Amino acid sequence: MFSALLKLPGQCEVCRSWPARALCEACVARFARPKPRCRLCALPLNTGTPVCGDCLLNPPPWQACLAGLDYAYPWAGVLGRFKFRQSAGLAASLASLMRSAPWVEPALDEAEVLLPMPLSTQRLKERGYNQSLLLARQLAPEKVQAQTLLRIRHTEAQSELPREQRLRNVAGAFALEPTAAASLAGKRVVLLDDVMTSGASLRAAALPVQQAGVAHLTCLVLARTPAPMHA
Ligand SMILES: [Zn+2]
Ligand SMILES: [Zn+2]
Repeated sequence: MFSALLKLPGQCEVCRSWPARALCEACVARFARPKPRCRLCALPLNTGTPVCGDCLLNPPPWQACLAGLDYAYPWAGVLGRFKFRQSAGLAASLASLMRSAPWVEPALDEAEVLLPMPLSTQRLKERGYNQSLLLARQLAPEKVQAQTLLRIRHTEAQSELPREQRLRNVAGAFALEPTAAASLAGKRVVLLDDVMTSGASLRAAALPVQQAGVAHLTCLVLARTPAPMHA
């Protein structure tokens, strides 16, 4: 990990051009254009409606959901590398992409608490760091509470499971630190994750947060799969 930290952010993570920042301006302009998304699950929407059909039928346990990018080419590859190789330059570039997505800046301004999705102790040991916490610290360091939302149970990797099993797999996997739970009552909270696919992990994590009596909960994700959440 130490050598990864020393790597200079001199090469674009997408096109490998030199010289550039961790993400060059041309790639951001080409691949990170903001798009209309469902207000509740951040699915790309071309229908002109604020909420997708799935969310109308089965509303998620939060008031808003925002995404910076599609979890698709080229970002899936960039994020895969980010997951296993800590890079301060890349974290800063990805956080600034998130901030420039529609509604993200006001959501962060209005929030009083920013909760990064926690990793299990086992996963944290494998990776060495939590990429959601890294992004949260870039976005609003003074609002980050890293010890409030806890992952109390290790779960199988979600990506290998079909949707119904994903929901079962993560049910009860999250809880609030008992002494911190009361401090969330009446607060505007942002829950931050790096990737949203089925939304099952965010739903499971949002439940104890809602139960603490928050005034408003926004999910903010770096990248969202461009296919429906309930598929
Ligand atoms: Zn580039
Ligand atoms: Zn939706």
